[in-house]
Amino acid sequence: MRRLLGSFERSLSLLNAIADGVIAQDNNDQIIYINDALAHMSGYCSAEAMMNISLAELTSRLKILDEQDQELTVTQLPGHFALLGQEVPERELRYSNPKTGEVGWLALKAQPVFSADGEVQFAVSIIRDITQRKQLEARTIELLAERERVKVLQRFVSDMSHDFRTPLSILNSSLYLMQKNIDPDRQQAHAAKAAHQIKRMEKLLGELLQIARLDENNVRFDFNETDLNTFLVPIVREYQQIALEKQIEVAFAAENDKCVARIDSTEFDHGLRNLIENAIAYTPKGGHITVGTSTQNDCAIVSIEDTGIGISTCDLPHIFERFYRADQARSTDTGGNGLGLSIVKRIVEEHGGNIEVKSEINVGTKFSVYLPSVLSYNAPI
Ligand code: ADP
Repeated sequence: MRRLLGSFERSLSLLNAIADGVIAQDNNDQIIYINDALAHMSGYCSAEAMMNISLAELTSRLKILDEQDQELTVTQLPGHFALLGQEVPERELRYSNPKTGEVGWLALKAQPVFSADGEVQFAVSIIRDITQRKQLEARTIELLAERERVKVLQRFVSDMSHDFRTPLSILNSSLYLMQKNIDPDRQQAHAAKAAHQIKRMEKLLGELLQIARLDENNVRFDFNETDLNTFLVPIVREYQQIALEKQIEVAFAAENDKCVARIDSTEFDHGLRNLIENAIAYTPKGGHITVGTSTQNDCAIVSIEDTGIGISTCDLPHIFERFYRADQARSTDTGGNGLGLSIVKRIVEEHGGNIEVKSEINVGTKFSVYLPSVLSYNAPI
């Protein structure tokens, strides 16, 4: 053993010159060799100054943490497993730098050293400070995330400016024609066109504000147990009148007398109106819309089904994305901007629910809003 250790120490004296820390521990988890690099990592001036330090002391000095932030003890470190004859793969662990108190990173690898008869004599661990590499990796990830944020922002600004530019240029030309024209009827028509564009911009601004409020968690939801049938009837009645202009029939169909869920009436009303208005906008003259309620398992369901233009299978996965408009919708000038459904989705999720859509081109679309039933529902605090 002495001879083995002697030749090992001769080799290790060469290792004293390298930057990686080296430590050898015997079967009783006692330090039998340590190099200067590891002494410096542990806050000592040299290996000699650590002569009487136990491995347990050294370990607690370095405060090595595992992936779950638990401080590791001697028997949990790679060196101990190497004593059991295992070659331990490199582990990257956090530690507390004893000199600066800052959290750094260590890469630890341990290997058993066997005697001629195959017995484990001691274990050697190589310890590298990889803090700089880890910091660089973290900065690279941050940089990529920042780049992604900038990209999203750029796309958002370009979508938004496009959506403002269209009504603004119509507004401009309407005002110009109003000034040029002396015929009061024509002036009236241009004024109506201008007013329509102002409404469109107001809607866009309102939706942008609502998105910002939801993103910043600035909307206070006030949940109350509500019978959705009673809640929906007046809304449906209102839209029956509006849809008359397009000769679209709007019906209400409740599966049960009562369908109770916890809702914030203002926000839920906003979301539902958006779905019904879409159904009217994307359903041609003579179509039908059915607003329904039902219950299934632990859910209260509100559905809005139309016999409209439908959504293609390639557009369907994207319709809840901000500013997304399906091609068909673009050709039907509804004045929409593709923000409505992203807001509806957020509102439904704030209620602890989810929204699903089924659609077929030229057959129709059905949106179903699933809300947790009252019995099992806990309103978010
Ligand atoms: P928009 O203001 O354009 O209607 P939304 O976010 O409300 O924006 O809807 C996104 C897209 O989903 C619409 O542009 C349209 O393509 C599609 N869509 C939504 N509802 C319907 C529907 N009932 N029928 C057909 N397409 C719909």
